[in-house]
Formats: sequence, C-alpha cells, structure tokens
Amino acid sequence: MKKIILLIALFEFSLFVNAQLVSSTKEQRPNIIVFLVDDMGWMDTSVPFADSVYPLNKQFHTPNMERLAKEGMKFTNAYSSPVCTPTRASMLSGMNAAHHGITNWTSPIKNKNTDNPDDQFTPASWKINGLSPVPIYDSTTYATTFPHILQDAGYYTIHVGKAHWASAGTPGASPLNMGFIINVSGHAAGHPQSYLGEENYGNLTGKTTPQAVPDLEEYFGTDTFLTEALTIEALKALEVPIKNKQPFYLNMAHYAVHIPIMEDKRFIKKYIEKGMNIVEAKYASLIEGMDKSLGDIMAFLKRKNIDQNTIIIFMSDNGGLSMVPLRGGNENTQNYPLKAGKGSIYEGGIRVPMLIKWPGVAKSSSINRQQVIIEDFFPSVLEMAGIKNYKTIQKVDGQSFVPLLKNISFTAKERAFIWHYPNKWISKDNLGINYKSAIRRGDWKLIYNMRDGSKELYNLINDIGEKNNVAKSYPDKVKELAKELSQQLRSWKSPMPIVKITGRFVPMPDEL
Ligand code: CA
Repeated sequence: MKKIILLIALFEFSLFVNAQLVSSTKEQRPNIIVFLVDDMGWMDTSVPFADSVYPLNKQFHTPNMERLAKEGMKFTNAYSSPVCTPTRASMLSGMNAAHHGITNWTSPIKNKNTDNPDDQFTPASWKINGLSPVPIYDSTTYATTFPHILQDAGYYTIHVGKAHWASAGTPGASPLNMGFIINVSGHAAGHPQSYLGEENYGNLTGKTTPQAVPDLEEYFGTDTFLTEALTIEALKALEVPIKNKQPFYLNMAHYAVHIPIMEDKRFIKKYIEKGMNIVEAKYASLIEGMDKSLGDIMAFLKRKNIDQNTIIIFMSDNGGLSMVPLRGGNENTQNYPLKAGKGSIYEGGIRVPMLIKWPGVAKSSSINRQQVIIEDFFPSVLEMAGIKNYKTIQKVDGQSFVPLLKNISFTAKERAFIWHYPNKWISKDNLGINYKSAIRRGDWKLIYNMRDGSKELYNLINDIGEKNNVAKSYPDKVKELAKELSQQLRSWKSPMPIVKITGRFVPMPDEL
C-alpha cells in the first residue's frame, strides 16, 4: 500500500514539475525545422558556398535558399559523412560515425552487409542494422535520440520523408520508435522507387520493391511530384501543434535529390533550354523542386505568423553524386572546385551546404567559416529548445554551434574532425571512394588509404581542391595527425576491415 501511495505522490509531483516547465517556458520556446536534403552537393545551388561564384552556381536556381542565406547565417565549412545512414545516425545520436560504427548505408533487408566483395579485405564488423532505440538488436548501435528528448520536454515531433537509420525488421527503421509522434513516408529504404505520383511512387502491382514510398496513397495516380506531396503533408502535420500552441520539431527529410534522377516537370524546361546535358537538367529540376519546398514552408510559417519564432536549419546528408552515367558530364567534376563526390572522404563527398535562420539570434546575411559537423546537430537542437541536463545512453561527441549563431565573432576552440569509411561502396576505387579515413584539424587534413597504408596531407586553406599532396614536405604534421586519428579510432573501437592474406585488422595509420 505504501508503495502505491509513494508512486501516486511521485506521479503527481512529476505532473507538477512538467506543468511548471510548460507554463514558464512555453512562450519563448522556438519551433525548430531541420530541412535535410539527400545527396545534395556543396555546389548544387545558386548560393555560393565557396569564396567566389563558380559556373555550377550559375547552373542551379535555388531562390529560396538565397532568401534563407539572406535572412540567416551561411556555414561554409559544414560537414557530413560520405553516405546516407552514417550521417543520419550521427545526427540523431550526436555520435561520430567512427564511434557509432554505422559506417556504411544500411540495407532495407535485415542482417545484410551492403559492402561490395573485395579481393584484399574481409568487410569490417560495422553495425549493419543501423541505429536502435533499444539495446536488444544485433549489429545495431543503441542510443538515445534527440527527438525523444524533445518529445519528453513537450515538443510535437514530426518526421517527413526519408529516414534510413536502420534495416527493416529492427525498431530503428520506424521514426515512431525514434522519438517522432508523426511519421510520413519514413522507413528503412534509402531512396524512392519513383518520384512520380503517376507511378504511385513505386507502389505498382507486381513491381513494388522495398524502395516504394509508403503513406502517400491520396496522391497515387496524380501528377504530384514526391517532393511536393511530402511538403503538402508536412504543412498538414504542422497544423496540429500550431493550433495547440505547442512547440514543434519538424524533420523535413526530402528524398530529393537522390537517384533515381527523374525530372520534376514543373522546373525542367529552362534547364533543357539552356542546352544542359539531359541528366544534369533533370538533376537541376530536382534541386529546384526541393528549393520550392523550402519556399513553401517559409511562406507557410509567415502565413501562420510563427516565422519569427521558428528556426530553420538547412543541411545535406552527404556530398553530390559524381559517378557517370548516373550523373551527366565528366566523372568527378560535379562538385568542382571540390574533389570527388558522394562516398568519398575528399571534400566533395563530405562538405555540404548549411544555412541557419534564427530570427533575432543569427545575424542576417552572415557567413561563418568555422568548422561544424553533423553530430553537432544533437546538442545544438537541444540547446535551441532550451533543454538542459538531459541524459543519454551514449557519449555525445558533437558540440553545440549555438554560440556561433549568437555571436558571429565567437571562435570555437579548435578540435579534430574525423571521417571513417572502412567500407567498399562501389566496385572500383578510382573515384577517391572506399577504404579511407581522414582527420581535419585547423587548415590541415590528413587522409589514410587503407589499401596501401599511404597518407596524403592537404592544406585546405590554400588547396580546397586537395590537388597538392604535401605529405613529403611536412612529415611531422603527418605523424602528429596520424597519431591523433589512430588514438581516436582506437578509443572508439572503430570498425576496420580484415586483411585476407594475414587475417589481421588493417593497421592503424600510426602503425605504418
Ligand atoms: Ca544521402
């Protein structure tokens, strides 16, 4: 009996505490939108992220990104992982990919390693089933996700679009298990089977694959492009918290601009008329459709009179695809002046467009050249929401970028940024993809090639295109960065491939 009374007392006390929290902070808690684009490169926009305008900036039309940049802060040194799932898992967990161990994209099918077979290496023991909100699943990483923390603090959490945190048949595949109250079209797959309503987004009798997009039945047979359908559904979902005056978090995770590159009919004409390569014209139409979604969301916030209390964070989950013929033009030029593309730890694979609008906080038309990385989203979003002293299962690696937003002259303490890709994404190595790790500290970036143990050193301030390997001229810098990279990988127990001929793990960079 005593126990029951105590429980009731505790329950009432917690209600009282929650009520206090809500009444004292309700007014000033901002709404937060993360607008996450899939596979969008650093140059796929008319907003220049490089120090000058390049021909690619003139090829794309993203007027709403231009507006967002004008109304907020542009980050020119923002990073993700080289492929989808590692980035998405880092964002939700706050852990670096080398730490959570989900270093490659997860298959929609459970227990399937997506690494390509290789003559030299046996695949690394990476977490092939992805991120999990519970501890019981094999080959997953158990972590507390920030949407769970937001939801517990009274936020209305909505996921729309691509999830791709985990394989089907594991809890992490569903956004509803990852802290979201509402899920529209998020599941285990990493791309849409089709962008076309006319093709039911892939849900066709006898032709449906695991990539068929769920939840959009009311648009089947219409000419509503996937990007548009997701935007309409997101705005519908937002009506609920707006009506209830509840703060919301929207994870607006577009399937665009991932393959299959399909034309968005609303925007294709001008790119064809420009005489662009047909694949690139289709790609540019996908980009502009995504940009229209951003504009529609911004207009909606204004209409609802909540634009001044809503933070918008624009981000991409990895660099632009640079493989031909999936893309048009010459191979590995799609992110120029950056080197390589999606799948690579060269800048073209990991440096991504990032913009933040925070009315009254982030200075409009400002440019921030400090380095930030995807795991920083976790502590940053929670700080924006005013949530402190939260508990997580995992140790969070990311650091909040809120001080950078509040004060443009604030300089964050220098830290190392790490990318780890002990995987084989594509069958050939010639595009700067497969079996590499990298560390950036300040202006310097060291790359470790697992195939042959070689190291490359670049000074990114003089050489953003990573053309001039200066490893031979700076042996001490190579040694220092190799040591720091190795120590970090060891402490995180990061997965490494196994050399078939010796049966041993690939050596750490400081062992060679
Ligand atoms: Ca991606």
